[in-house]
Amino acid sequence: MVSERLAEAVDILKENGVRMTPQRHAILNFLLSSMSHPTADEIYKALEMTFPNMSVATVYNNLRVFKDAGLVKELTYGDASSRFDANMKDHYHIICRHCGKITDFDYPTLTEVEVKAAEETGYQIESHRMEIYGICPSCKTKNEP
Ligand code: ZN
Ligand code: MN
Repeated sequence: MVSERLAEAVDILKENGVRMTPQRHAILNFLLSSMSHPTADEIYKALEMTFPNMSVATVYNNLRVFKDAGLVKELTYGDASSRFDANMKDHYHIICRHCGKITDFDYPTLTEVEVKAAEETGYQIESHRMEIYGICPSCKTKNEP
């Protein structure tokens, strides 16, 4: 399934005039296989053994290319560094207050909130953000006596 999505992503990049390099391929593959919403630094650390000449800046540049092509979303929560999400389907996130883990969670898009906001304020609505905070199952287990 990841390989299918990878092939699809490669095609989209090609259409955008982006040349595939082994590093680019590896970063993309890492993002598509990982459900952990990694930071650029985490991607760099995961791949530095395979690509000793690759810099964090290269990872950043590639993430920007993927973002421009609509293949990844950049998530900014608080003042921590951006995390990247290759799941482009509409979904919400639940965030562990203890370890910072971000988990996908499916819920119908809250369109009615946008409609209500538009009606009440006269704004033209572009988007909304909603995230849930709590303690993840593994942190919960660790903290139990
Ligand atoms: Zn946690
Ligand atoms: Mn996500």
